Amino acid sequence: MRFSTKAIHVGQEPEATTGAVVVPIFQTSTYAQPDVGVHKGHEYSRTSNPTRDAYQACIAALENARHGYAFGSGMGAISTIMTLFKAGDHILSSDDVYGGTFRVFDKVFRNFGLDYSFADTSDLDALAAAIRPETRMVWIESPTNPMLKISDIAAIADLCHRKGLLLGVDNTFMSPYFQRPLELGADLVMHSSTKYLGGHSDVVGGVVCTNHDQVAERIKFSQNAMGAVMGPFDAWLTLRGLKTLALRMERHQKNALAVARFLEAHDDVREVIYPGLESHPGHALQARQAHGFGGMISLRLKGDLEAARRFCRSTKLFFLAESLGGVESLLEHPAIMTHASVPAETRAALGITDDFVRLSVGIEDENDLIEDLGQALAAMRHP
Ligand SMILES: *Cc1c(COP(=O)(O)O)cnc(C)c1O
Repeated sequence: MRFSTKAIHVGQEPEATTGAVVVPIFQTSTYAQPDVGVHKGHEYSRTSNPTRDAYQACIAALENARHGYAFGSGMGAISTIMTLFKAGDHILSSDDVYGGTFRVFDKVFRNFGLDYSFADTSDLDALAAAIRPETRMVWIESPTNPMLKISDIAAIADLCHRKGLLLGVDNTFMSPYFQRPLELGADLVMHSSTKYLGGHSDVVGGVVCTNHDQVAERIKFSQNAMGAVMGPFDAWLTLRGLKTLALRMERHQKNALAVARFLEAHDDVREVIYPGLESHPGHALQARQAHGFGGMISLRLKGDLEAARRFCRSTKLFFLAESLGGVESLLEHPAIMTHASVPAETRAALGITDDFVRLSVGIEDENDLIEDLGQALAAMRHP
């Protein structure tokens, strides 16, 4: 079965009693057992739930994974992955990760004796040099957030496996439609399903997929033991989102390319960062390791913080909001919004400056989006 077919069929047989073609929402915490110690496959919904099972089967199939586990948020998924490790272990992470990922590493798991360091994983030599004897996992985002740097997933997987390390990839920005890290050798792939997988900005969730049976056993154990599970209604919404993932991603990408070209030619824009542009340093690598370039664009405006505020305030279709990956276009100012928890020096080193804005391009009509950005740039220029 190919991608779009899997999205609609895997885990989604018509329901046995009624023939309902849509997986029902099994909104139940527990399951009546026919006899003491005898059950019909489910005992308690933290451990398993039929709606969550259907979604887990589908997303695992889309990532070409044998195992998939759904969580109440992307951060719940990442936190559960951390239970693979013990005090003294070191995790080497991309330096330009989601702000919440940095925060949970730095402010939560360090307290339990896990150690973290951060490197530019788009530079293989820098990454190799940062590996320590205690390193157990390399954790990357590609593209990164918000600089959209591209890391060579297959080369990093090779390096990790030569050194006996796991490679985990946060694939949120790409979705499995555009990029499947497990096929490139990664051991774990994680998503904030809040973004493209759900796709409609109406549900928060996270997922972990793997082909590594021992890792899967541990994640499954911790999913139940720690309990950061996704509820049945959220699993149902996200499963519905998956059905249109292929269509949505194509449209996100088409619109993003049109918007990026418009911005690249605009006098009030200093720089446009979009992996789909030939000017992006990771363009060729992205074209080789992925099936597309996604819907996220970062840009630098010609102006100061006040100008950036005027721009962000002036769009009408692009809502000023954190998050990404929904059908509606969003924009945000990383230095003040999503990356506020990253220390100011680190932000400066990464290039998250006051004139820096991130766009999540939705699936509206591209001409309306371009007109909206055009009038916001004019408002920025002439207050
Ligand atoms: C949003 C996001 C997360 C965190 O996911 P939540 O669902 O918000 O908990 C992690 N990584 C990336 C790249 C994200 O965009």
